[in-house]
Amino acid sequence: MQLQAIYRARRAIEDVAIRTPLVPAPVLSAASGREVRLKLETTQPTGAFKLRGAASALAGLSEQERARGVVCASTGNHGRAVAFAARRFGVSAIICMSELVPRNKLAAIRALGAQARIVGRSQDEAQEEVDRLVAAEGLAEIPPFDHPDVIAGQGTIGLELLEDFPEIDTALVPLSGGGLIAGIALALKTASPAVRVIGVSMEKGAAMQASLAAGHPVQVEETASLADSLGGGIGLANRHTFQMVRHLVDAVVLVSEAKIAAAMRSLFLEEGWVAEGAGAIGVALLAEPHLAGLGRNVAIVVSGRNVDMNRFAAIVAAPGVEEEPCR
Ligand SMILES: *Cc1c(COP(=O)(O)O)cnc(C)c1O
Repeated sequence: MQLQAIYRARRAIEDVAIRTPLVPAPVLSAASGREVRLKLETTQPTGAFKLRGAASALAGLSEQERARGVVCASTGNHGRAVAFAARRFGVSAIICMSELVPRNKLAAIRALGAQARIVGRSQDEAQEEVDRLVAAEGLAEIPPFDHPDVIAGQGTIGLELLEDFPEIDTALVPLSGGGLIAGIALALKTASPAVRVIGVSMEKGAAMQASLAAGHPVQVEETASLADSLGGGIGLANRHTFQMVRHLVDAVVLVSEAKIAAAMRSLFLEEGWVAEGAGAIGVALLAEPHLAGLGRNVAIVVSGRNVDMNRFAAIVAAPGVEEEPCR
């Protein structure tokens, strides 16, 4: 994949996703002795960066594919993004979900104008319905990370970082399936191979980290985490993100649940920003600069803010609450 694809994606998504602010983090900067800036993907209209990739993937579909509609199985940030972007492009979207999906998530998807299809009692059964709709009705599946247009869409964050923070020497990026970090790393490393790009995952169930260690994609056991948006595997048939992460990312660091909670607290109480666990995870590394080899000019991608606000309030109010995981 080439940098040019990211520039094309930027043009394709400009009416759907916003150019997010890069803000100073004075307290975190002073505490860490570095110039720390926060890339607030929390300010996207769906509350997370996934809108960039979803819009880019929709833009890449042919007229015929758009006329038939799109489908996906995520009820989280990707599902929201697909629903929002599809409405903007005038494409019909079906989001498949299991009966166990919480009501608020179902309502959020419907409010964005997508059709919710409830099938079975597990994510796997929801995915089977996606596969069926693709095969039987010719709908296009919009994947959450392992697709060149999705990666290019997320990579537009890298272009914005280069423009707004030309001194950047380190980027801290939340990591799950790897679409976000692969796109950002492609943009940053093409501009300057010396910029360090560091992935951050939770200790429990870090599929990319386990796959890198094994030398090929592997499955990991899923456990509940404060960083619930980082759950799930990278796909045993991974085609793009595994190789890109392997070649472009300098290090992957894992952090504990307690440190994720502490990062959410410090982002909120010290800098005034709401982030979900996955969104705050990069901040956890500031306390452990030796692990990541941090430079002087550090950008942290704060990837999303979609967290139940009652739970968020409990976490920021009381250290220790994180010991009861969210799912
Ligand atoms: C999906 C997601 C991530 C991880 O992105 P990948 O491309 O899967 O690595 C990080 N943070 C949030 C908030 C997300 O929704």
